[in-house]
Amino acid sequence: MSPATPPPPPSSAAAAPFPGDGPALRDRAVAAAVADGLVSAADPVAGLLDVTGIRRSAAELRAAFAEFAAPGTPVLHAFAVKAASLVPVLRLLAAEGLGCEVASPGELALARAAGVPPARTVLDSPAKTPAELREALALGIAVNADNPGELARLDGLAASAPTASPLGLRVNPQLGGGSIGAMSTATGTSKFGVALRDEGARDWVVRAFLDRPWLTRLHAHVGSQGMPLDLMAGGVRTLYELAEEINEKAGRTQVTTLDIGGGLPVNFASDETAPTYRAYARLLHAAVPGLFGGRYGLVTEFGRSLLAKHGTVLARVEYAKSAGGRRIAVTHAGAQVATRTVFAPDSWPLRVAAYDAQGRPKTGAPVAQDVAGPCCFAGDLVAVDRPLPPLEPGDHVALLDTGAYYFSTHFAYNSLLRPGVHGYAAGPDGAPRWATVRAPQRMAELVAESGGAHADALTQL
Ligand SMILES: *Cc1c(COP(=O)(O)O)cnc(C)c1O
Repeated sequence: MSPATPPPPPSSAAAAPFPGDGPALRDRAVAAAVADGLVSAADPVAGLLDVTGIRRSAAELRAAFAEFAAPGTPVLHAFAVKAASLVPVLRLLAAEGLGCEVASPGELALARAAGVPPARTVLDSPAKTPAELREALALGIAVNADNPGELARLDGLAASAPTASPLGLRVNPQLGGGSIGAMSTATGTSKFGVALRDEGARDWVVRAFLDRPWLTRLHAHVGSQGMPLDLMAGGVRTLYELAEEINEKAGRTQVTTLDIGGGLPVNFASDETAPTYRAYARLLHAAVPGLFGGRYGLVTEFGRSLLAKHGTVLARVEYAKSAGGRRIAVTHAGAQVATRTVFAPDSWPLRVAAYDAQGRPKTGAPVAQDVAGPCCFAGDLVAVDRPLPPLEPGDHVALLDTGAYYFSTHFAYNSLLRPGVHGYAAGPDGAPRWATVRAPQRMAELVAESGGAHADALTQL
């Protein structure tokens, strides 16, 4: 690029090139993480984040909705903070034009620490306290009420002080579940939102809006991972039709904004990103033609699909052993960083890549082996009977596609130290440069968090 050519804006709708990210850079990052001591005998496991990849996914999300939405349609992409509750990640996404969807006071604190403005923050959670609601309304962040009881609390708060907060109601379209029960939020009995198909519920919702002129949003999130796309689109269609009905009965555009949730599934089987945001936006455009017509502002709440493919857990192999004829690699990555995979392996299989002691991709004829973690229970396995080049002590394993809900959501079992998280991007020479996202927890911090300052508390009682 000549110096006279201005660089493209970071999130231009045109498919901006993001050279250098992806699997090739991941391999270089693994080798650099070992060479630079980010993973070592002292710190035997760490999370690595591909910053360029995160930027690219954010740009693809924005471009996908910009392509189908009528010009001028307000669109807020609010990242579901629970998917990667790390302040620098939230700041990076904010720089790419995204906001935050928060579901607890802690997540709100993280979004605020990242500098995400209230106008780009959305609060959803099934158990908001009065204090939480008051804070949200004072800040002016959007709130989606979950149920009639919460709406009654909002009645009181809205009457007592004016607020800039856009207020909405979450509904459950009750369309059915996906392949993972715990992730399915639109079954007949899911715990979230007003169950729209229950007897009298739809009329109740319409009445609730007509009685409350300040209620202007409808929200649905039909599930996370394992949801068929047509079921997701069906949820959005239900939301749209409900908004049309309310607005018709109100005789005005009372519902101005549809919050369609997140939940785009992630492909954990290869490096391919599928489905893409563009494919989903195209499907929504076909299934709910009015959605993008410009009469409604849109909010999305994607989490996993923005981050998963851009994170890697890198861990040392401590021992190689065998039991009953099965080879077992005992590594430092187990349930503490891959909780769902260990406890629900059929729902959450992960790819494991093998690297040697220098962090170079390991070669050699694959041998079936278990990849075990460091936790003291027999089921602490991230892969079972997996064909991999024979792993030896000092080698490394990488758990791929773990940028969302894995190392950012550490499980404190066995008092294993919370690993560091490091962001990388290719420098001018192509070599990865590092930034600390979260420092590795140190032993003194762990002791302090475990009541270390109160050692005598119980014996003195
Ligand atoms: C978890 C959640 C999301 C994000 O789901 P992903 O599958 O990570 O995209 C969005 N909205 C709500 C209300 C959620 O609970």
